[in-house]
Amino acid sequence: MKLIIYSVREAEKPYINAWAKENGHEVEMVDKPLNAKTVKLAQGYDGVSIQQTAKLGDAKIYEELAAMGIKQLSTRTVGVDMINLDDCKANDIVVTNVPVYSPRAIAEMGVTQAMYLLRRIADFRERMAHGDFRWSDDLISNEIYNLTVGVIGLGNIGGATAQIYKALGARVLAYDPFYNVEYEPYVEYTDFETVVKSADILTLHTPLLPSTENMIAAPQFKMMKNNAYLINMARGGLVNTSDLIDALENHEIAGAGLDTLADETTFFSKQVSPDKIPADYKKLAAMPNVLVTPHIAFLTQTSIRNMVEISLNDVVAVVEGKHSRNEIRM
Ligand code: NAD
Repeated sequence: MKLIIYSVREAEKPYINAWAKENGHEVEMVDKPLNAKTVKLAQGYDGVSIQQTAKLGDAKIYEELAAMGIKQLSTRTVGVDMINLDDCKANDIVVTNVPVYSPRAIAEMGVTQAMYLLRRIADFRERMAHGDFRWSDDLISNEIYNLTVGVIGLGNIGGATAQIYKALGARVLAYDPFYNVEYEPYVEYTDFETVVKSADILTLHTPLLPSTENMIAAPQFKMMKNNAYLINMARGGLVNTSDLIDALENHEIAGAGLDTLADETTFFSKQVSPDKIPADYKKLAAMPNVLVTPHIAFLTQTSIRNMVEISLNDVVAVVEGKHSRNEIRM
């Protein structure tokens, strides 16, 4: 089979080449996204894999793909919003995504951030940079096995997070409206308020929905322990950023580890000039008890390999007329 793969990143190439060799397929790698200018490159190929945030284009692209005999589009991402599903349906094009590629990648970043904050690494660096190597009482840390971790959203990533904290000896409380027996060995399920009030580390892993937006705001910061750390690896909109800044300034919580911010799309994953960086971010980044990373928790070798392999296996399955469990319902 001949596959064309759009928007290929350097880091993906070894995995694509290994997959092609192992499965005996021919692959063409293109560094550009699929759009009106590049759609012609798909002529003569059996299947297509993409990875882009920009929309493919208008209905004509889907008609052109169908006219070339393309029966599927497989995106190496979770989101499918760059694809017009109505146009796919109209042209009998099956769409697949990669809904789960490595929950552990995000879970480990959350735990790493919590440990960095807990052990006061930024404070030590700052003081040592100024020649201060003293042991001072205000730098005494806690050990994870003595702490209570609160997980909000016990799905793939929250579940992996709970397992890591449990393995480190912590007591793990969790709130999720849906009970999952798989996580029973690692957590004590309880209600949202109990988790927020009891946690020394409160870690968020829910999708952003109308029901979860601003789930952590001024009232929740007031409920949290003063020594608690908030970890948000999910979506910025779950936390009210200005209330978070107030809570940090008023010492209502001890610190925060954030891989996402509500207004991140204007600057995360981009090179921007200092005047384009939001004031909220600047305030947070200047606090030694806050760690911000640019929505990068997912970026591990395992994730890249899985995104490539799952997507390309789905191309083959759909082209061969089989079903993939990653097909998007249209
Ligand atoms: P998932 O669907 O497996 O789990 C989400 C869980 O949240 C589900 O169990 C669901 O029942 C629960 N939930 C829904 N509403 C809730 C509520 N009001 N209160 C508590 N729990 C609620 O999803 P996942 O794969 O674990 O991903 C979780 C989130 O992580 C994603 O939605 C995404 O926003 C984020 N994410 C971040 C990165 C990153 O790089 N930082 C990467 C991938 C995903």
